[in-house]
Amino acid sequence: MVDPVVWDIGYLVSAALFILGIKKLSSPKTAPQGNRMGAYGMLLAVLVTMAKMYSEEIIGLELIAGGLAVGTIIGVWMATRVEMTGMPELVALFNGFGGGASALVGLSEVLTRVNPATLDIPTDNVDLYGTWIAIGLSVLIGCLTLTGSLMAMGKLKGGFYIPLTKKDDRGRRKWVNFPTWGPPWLNIVKGGLLVASFVLIWLMIQEPENADYIYALVGVSCLLGIVFVLPIGGADMPVVVSLLNSMSGIAAAFTGFVISNNVLIIAGSMVGAAGLILTFIMCKAMNRTLTAVLFKSFGGGGKETVTRTKVGSDPEEVAMVCDGISKCVIIPGYGMAVSQAQHAVKEFADLLEAQDVEVSYGIHPVAGRMPGHMNVLLAEANVPYEQLIEMDEINSELPECDVALVIGANDTVNPVARSGEGPLGGMPIINADKARVVVIIKRSLSVGYAGVDNDLFFEDKTMMLFGDGKKMMNELNSAFKDL
Ligand code: NDP
Repeated sequence: MVDPVVWDIGYLVSAALFILGIKKLSSPKTAPQGNRMGAYGMLLAVLVTMAKMYSEEIIGLELIAGGLAVGTIIGVWMATRVEMTGMPELVALFNGFGGGASALVGLSEVLTRVNPATLDIPTDNVDLYGTWIAIGLSVLIGCLTLTGSLMAMGKLKGGFYIPLTKKDDRGRRKWVNFPTWGPPWLNIVKGGLLVASFVLIWLMIQEPENADYIYALVGVSCLLGIVFVLPIGGADMPVVVSLLNSMSGIAAAFTGFVISNNVLIIAGSMVGAAGLILTFIMCKAMNRTLTAVLFKSFGGGGKETVTRTKVGSDPEEVAMVCDGISKCVIIPGYGMAVSQAQHAVKEFADLLEAQDVEVSYGIHPVAGRMPGHMNVLLAEANVPYEQLIEMDEINSELPECDVALVIGANDTVNPVARSGEGPLGGMPIINADKARVVVIIKRSLSVGYAGVDNDLFFEDKTMMLFGDGKKMMNELNSAFKDL
């Protein structure tokens, strides 16, 4: 039998790696190193747990090897297949899996305890209440996170693919889409389900030998996750995704209490706290309160139809406008990620800088489909970190800017947000419209994620360069070189 101190030392080292890793994530320069430290910490935690379980004869080698092999194959397969634009959905799915795993551990603990053969119900009250409350909360939060994250993933993806349906004329199969639907009475349903969950946890404590309560809790919490995410739409999804991320951590921390695993308590609490901090940062960025996001339906249903038209410009015209300017602000959005235009954008910036033009990038906190989406892409194209300027700072510079080049961004530059009305109402934006000339690269006049028409496209000072982001940037670069 191995001395338990050995396991505790292993967990301590992995917890230290998590903390140092998070510290390093606070700067883009040290973030890759921080990411690696976190991954090593997790690897160590997994190995120590496996070794501990093996030495305590909880599981055999075949189960360890089988679990590692299946997990590794699925993980590598998903990581290599996922496109950069699919990362937010994958993150939402991982949050859901985290919650689901915590709920399963809580459930298995209950089933072990209520099994008459292994009945192990603590006799003193504190332990009884503490353990069962932890089990109940890990199942409640875990199941809620699982279904809520699957809903969020479906909303981010634009719906779920159903393999059994027939293909349409364009060879695509049908998707189940989730409406953004939240009548005021849904809040009463949410409240009712939450109260029902707490009652079920209380009943579990009263009659620990009755497993029916835990099954009912699973059903109620899964339903709660669905009605919790159903009304949220429009531009508020970033807040929900980071809140679900935080909840997956909290569920894991409760599971850590259930199975007395210190590293799970530490890692879960860190994910919970970090996710909550990110949630509040996102709320601030969207100018929303958390209660407003959770209990008011901002998203509205459907997307606006754009009926106005605008004549597009060509790359040669835009290149001529950019010739001889002194300041250019590049504002990237989701379309830059879709078209993978970041390298072409950097090339354009290099061409301008060769002519002594001051170039910077205006980064909106919710641009793209996940926090930091634009920073990651631009770092990949070797854009210096100092040129990535946050929204408030870049807004003070835009009135002195000659050209604002908006590539694949829409909601984050939509002036309607300033009116305080509609799904984008109140969200701070990058004031691209304050620049002397605005160049917008996108494929059409269609709406962005929140489904709102954008007046900026139709302003006289705006030049629309219609087409795929990467293709148009390459054409613009060629035109600029030919001047
Ligand atoms: P938007 O989603 O508002 O707009 C992106 C635009 O990119 C579209 O209008 C689209 O227009 C264009 N586009 C798509 N594909 C291409 C392509 N291949 N080439 C060129 N353009 C393309 O993006 P923003 O970044 O401005 O705003 C982000 C939105 O997403 C916000 O509403 C935010 O709340 C939400 N969100 C953000 C999350 C986050 O954490 N960052 C998470 C979830 C949602 P067209 O089809 O005409 O080309």
